[in-house]
Amino acid sequence: MGVFATARDITERKIIEEQLAKSAAILEQSNRDLQQYSYITTHDLQEPLRVIAGFLQLLEHRYKGKLDRDADEFIDFAVNAAVRLQNMINDLMIYTRLESRAKPFESTDCNLVLTETLKRLQSEIEATRATVTHDVLPVVMGDRDQILTVFKNLLINSLKFHLKDVAPVIHVSAHRTKNEWLFRVTDNGIGIAPRNQNEIFTVFKRFVGREYPGTGMGLAMCKKIIDRHEGRIWVESEPEKGSTFYFTLPAVTE
Ligand code: ADP
Repeated sequence: MGVFATARDITERKIIEEQLAKSAAILEQSNRDLQQYSYITTHDLQEPLRVIAGFLQLLEHRYKGKLDRDADEFIDFAVNAAVRLQNMINDLMIYTRLESRAKPFESTDCNLVLTETLKRLQSEIEATRATVTHDVLPVVMGDRDQILTVFKNLLINSLKFHLKDVAPVIHVSAHRTKNEWLFRVTDNGIGIAPRNQNEIFTVFKRFVGREYPGTGMGLAMCKKIIDRHEGRIWVESEPEKGSTFYFTLPAVTE
């Protein structure tokens, strides 16, 4: 009896394992298809959109002030919408490339990455009279360019979403828990209502008006990158008080 039962268990396990392997292969293929599909779509959409935006801008330059006021306004709306769509498609393309152009993980000194990020954001920091400080950050295993994208997107937001007439004050820190590093980017900006705090990490989701430029892709990119590094990202925030974005990266074990 015992021998038969064991034989049956083994056969059942084998069947389950084969089914699992088959499902994984199908899922992998469909992921690859989806990846290629979104890449092609974003790429192919750019060409006709470039023509539309180009001719709208030509209309604007040649006829602004020569038709009536309504016409000026209509052209203005159309130009703005075309530029917005161009930016959205461009960011969507960057988003799909996060997977297709991902680099292998390497030892990455986050102090150097942050210094580089701050250099790239220098004009925005000066324009907003922001104060950006940071603690000593760790060395982690990761995709250097992608970690830079995370810092850049979080810092751009902290610089952008500041309260009227209040200069941004931003602090970046990290501390070690058992198996991971917990990073923190804190600002004194407009904050985020509790009901929107999960949704902001979704593609194209934004909860501010057009007075704040953006496509709603920055945090979706951060999430995709942190997911790839097997970390987590979330926010704690209070409207009008500021926000703290947290993300984790696995700690390098000696
Ligand atoms: P974008 O900045 O282009 O709008 P993101 O994906 O970076 O897109 O952010 C999504 C939304 O999350 C923003 O539109 C805004 O509503 C909110 N948000 C992100 N960062 C902050 C911040 N530091 N302070 C206040 N709101 C923020």
